[in-house]
Amino acid sequence: MAPWPWRHRTKTGGSSISTFKLWFLPRRKFFFSLIALTGLLAFGTMTLAAVLTTAGRSPVLKGRTIVVDPGHGGIDAGTDYGRYYEKDINLTVSRVLRAQLTREGARVITTRDRDTDLSHLYPEGSTRQRRDLAARVQIARTHNAEVLISLHCNWSWKTYHRGPIVYYQVGREDSRLLAEAVQQELNKVQEGIRKIPRPAEFYILRESPMTAIIIEMGFLSNPTDRRLLNQPEYLKKLARAIIEGLETYIQVRELYRGLYGPVPMNYLPR
Ligand SMILES: [Zn+2]
Repeated sequence: MAPWPWRHRTKTGGSSISTFKLWFLPRRKFFFSLIALTGLLAFGTMTLAAVLTTAGRSPVLKGRTIVVDPGHGGIDAGTDYGRYYEKDINLTVSRVLRAQLTREGARVITTRDRDTDLSHLYPEGSTRQRRDLAARVQIARTHNAEVLISLHCNWSWKTYHRGPIVYYQVGREDSRLLAEAVQQELNKVQEGIRKIPRPAEFYILRESPMTAIIIEMGFLSNPTDRRLLNQPEYLKKLARAIIEGLETYIQVRELYRGLYGPVPMNYLPR
């Protein structure tokens, strides 16, 4: 049997085409399967490549300036429980969040990366705390940030209170929308948590020209929250949830922009 039948002519003078057909027809199922399989493999490879290239690089956050503000620091420990200080947990989470946001392509600015307060950066202001907060807003302004996320920990006499709560500035729809998107994701991080974002009048929210929220990541007064806030795996989940919420907020805002034009900072649809 000739290996390449389309070059083979039979002794009876049959054309190469008919010889090809004689050879090919019984084998056609095999060839069609081969073509289908090759196509499937190529499609699979392309899909995998697409997934791999987009997995760590979210186009939503690419190039956006996000300020991550770990609350307190230095002489200001924030709230505490035994050897757990809020300022330390805030700083640890800010580093995890910064790493993940950077991987998503965002430009991340942190207001502090060590155990210090920031009052020395802003000379005007009656109290140390006011100067410290003013310095944080000033950093976000200087870098022309799009979003400011301030990280804090909660405390309550009622030790059963647990779970993250997001605060937004009263009267600022952009702040409220971001808070709702982030809260929705944070509610998935712990079993049985159904918090709603809360309106507030905190200096850092009120004075920030960009969209700002405060995240109270958990209660140091609650044993479950305390244990979770000291688990690196939980902190990664927490950071992931914040990013998912941030992405949703930006997508909704962009959608609004596409439909109705520029989004007024104090008005967004409910
Ligand atoms: Zn705090």
